[in-house]
Amino acid sequence: MRKTTRRLDLEISFHEEIKSLRLGQGDTFHGEGILAITKALLQAGVSYVGGYQGAPVSHLLDVMVQAKPYLDELGVHVEACSNEASAAAMLGASIHYPVRGAVTWKSIVGTNVAADALSNLSSPGVTGGVLIVVGEDYGEGASVIQERTHAFALKSGMCLLDPRPDLTQMVHLVEQGFELSEASHMPVIMELRIRACHVRGSFAAKDNRAPAWSKQNLIADPARFDYMRLAHPPVTFVHEKLKVHERIPAARRFIREHGLNETFHGVEHADLGLVVQGGLYNTLIRTLQQFDLADAFGVSSLSIHVLNVAWPLVPEDLTAFCADKRAVLLFEEGQPEYIEQELALTLRRQDLQTPLHGKDLLPSAGEYTAEVMATGLLAFLERHQPTAVPEATRAWLHGNVERRQGLQKAMAGPLPARPPGMCIGCPERPVFAALKLAQQDVGPVHISGDIGCHALATFEPFSVGHSILGYGMSLASRAGVSPLMQRRVLSVMGDGGFWHNGLLTGVQSALFNGDDAVLLIFKNGYTSATGTQDIINTPLEAVKASSEDKRVSLSHTNQTIEQTLKGLGVQWLRTVHTYHVDVMKATLTEAFTTSFQGLKVIVAEGECQLERQRRIKPWMAGLLARGERVERVKYGVDEDVCNGDHACIRLSGCPTLTLKDNPDPLKVDPVAHVIEGCVGCGLCGANAHAATLCPSFYRAEVVQNPRWHERLVSGLRGLARQCLQGARA
Ligand code: SF4
Ligand code: SF4
Repeated sequence: MRKTTRRLDLEISFHEEIKSLRLGQGDTFHGEGILAITKALLQAGVSYVGGYQGAPVSHLLDVMVQAKPYLDELGVHVEACSNEASAAAMLGASIHYPVRGAVTWKSIVGTNVAADALSNLSSPGVTGGVLIVVGEDYGEGASVIQERTHAFALKSGMCLLDPRPDLTQMVHLVEQGFELSEASHMPVIMELRIRACHVRGSFAAKDNRAPAWSKQNLIADPARFDYMRLAHPPVTFVHEKLKVHERIPAARRFIREHGLNETFHGVEHADLGLVVQGGLYNTLIRTLQQFDLADAFGVSSLSIHVLNVAWPLVPEDLTAFCADKRAVLLFEEGQPEYIEQELALTLRRQDLQTPLHGKDLLPSAGEYTAEVMATGLLAFLERHQPTAVPEATRAWLHGNVERRQGLQKAMAGPLPARPPGMCIGCPERPVFAALKLAQQDVGPVHISGDIGCHALATFEPFSVGHSILGYGMSLASRAGVSPLMQRRVLSVMGDGGFWHNGLLTGVQSALFNGDDAVLLIFKNGYTSATGTQDIINTPLEAVKASSEDKRVSLSHTNQTIEQTLKGLGVQWLRTVHTYHVDVMKATLTEAFTTSFQGLKVIVAEGECQLERQRRIKPWMAGLLARGERVERVKYGVDEDVCNGDHACIRLSGCPTLTLKDNPDPLKVDPVAHVIEGCVGCGLCGANAHAATLCPSFYRAEVVQNPRWHERLVSGLRGLARQCLQGARA
């Protein structure tokens, strides 16, 4: 059997980050929050790490995967999992064995995928500490639906850490998180908002701990059979009681005894209390500074209770904090207001009459930025300490509102959105151009979208996609639609989504049910949208290294998707190079109109341009440095020919194909123009051909370090040009 080697990583080098992982006692770590968490896992003695990459926590797994040689020295196992469900299932190792494990993914979407395994893990509980590091992708920079991980912690009985964004504190909570998990037998989730992942700082490093049980020190015998460790009835009934009567009380005890939540007493208005989720602490301090209620070092005039553990709450701590306060304001981002409800109930049960504010003064939905928190704090102070509100702060907040309203008025509406777009030269863009053209022939079709770079086609100029139901779910999500439509439905999926979920939930189901469906798979070779990580159909390293011309797309060199589809029984299968717009248009049209009833799959092949450019640029730089000939292609528009209808732009959306003023004083419409940055992908030419556009595009080969005969020909051409110009003059 042929053995292939694969580096489970990506083209970006984390050389410096890996050096940080090796720091030991006496060293100081400097860097980002998420890297500090990664280092903390090693200090805590994890035996295994897994996960599925996604912002804002991709870095954790990416760095770990590249650090494999070092982790092998420690005996730590790293697994780049095929989805979050498989990552969560890895934690099963800690049910029986005293081994610590950590997994990571983007929440809420990843937690949704992992939910089954998490429930079945939480029910029997764990022996070795378990930490689930999730990117709480909430707020303005988020790319997913806005829901809270908190709900999962509540329903399954998992502790939820929400650390104050300070590297020392975050690292401390990783170590404490494992101990909390072991003391309570509960899995522990650590939620990190975007700002916590990217906060920079330093902490005093410790030596990494080689795990007691590891790849270097194997467990001799499996654990004895223990039915109590299975998530099966009737023991699941016992598990539920254990959660309520033993595990949650044990967790609360640990949180209190180890001071995981923090209280900062106010220096001036100590009788006014603020309760805040740990992750919002830095924004709260910034907010207080706007009121001159905190100094540059974060010393606050009001008392603050920081919930580094967002669940379970500790009633004794909360009542102790609230008991001597005139009023308390709770900052809890997102909805429903789980913490507020529990805090109100706690106060009521203790018959404490301290006024509690939260969502009555703060918005239920949306990110708690400093401005949002300041608006809530202003309302709180106006009721309970009006003298603490500087006039300048009131003016700042009112000024912000007025400026926005003024701008809206001036623009006659809200500011235009600036959505993200596909990279320059992205191989997926031509397919959507072809789809636009195909629909001109067959009529509009229902399109099930998916997660991935291709989801950017939902923006102008394509505006393609009727729904997105989850990662790899496009084919499954058309199953209820397609039987009801006159025209066939198209499902669009990336290769990342195909392996994540699409193969089983979509392809297998469509084949089993004999569905008449059309699936378009973008085979660009990587999970590009999450950071171009490798997948099973990524071109092998050996192929990349041996290809002489690094510009060539290599996605065709790995046929795993095609082989899998054929093996499953797909009979109508076409592979089309994405930049061949006319062929893609014809293939799509055929798929929509053929008499073949059953699953039709089009594999749109074209390597991710981002990855190609990472390969091409250093290669070209090397050729130039050696004085060798380098040729690159650029496209351009002949402004004398361009008729200014901009059909090419509506069909492309490439950021380097733009507009400029018409040089002809008799024409008012701006002309199309290709700016610096064009990577010469060829789409402009292919579109002009497939859509029979005006013949204004030209293709130019830019040659650096030309050969002698090229210089000679160029010189002769220049001479001829000069002669002709002279004759004309
Ligand atoms: S990362 Fe790759 S697939 Fe994604 S938009 Fe850029 S070129 Fe296209
Ligand atoms: S050829 Fe056209 S589509 Fe391709 S990078 Fe250049 S301007 Fe963009």
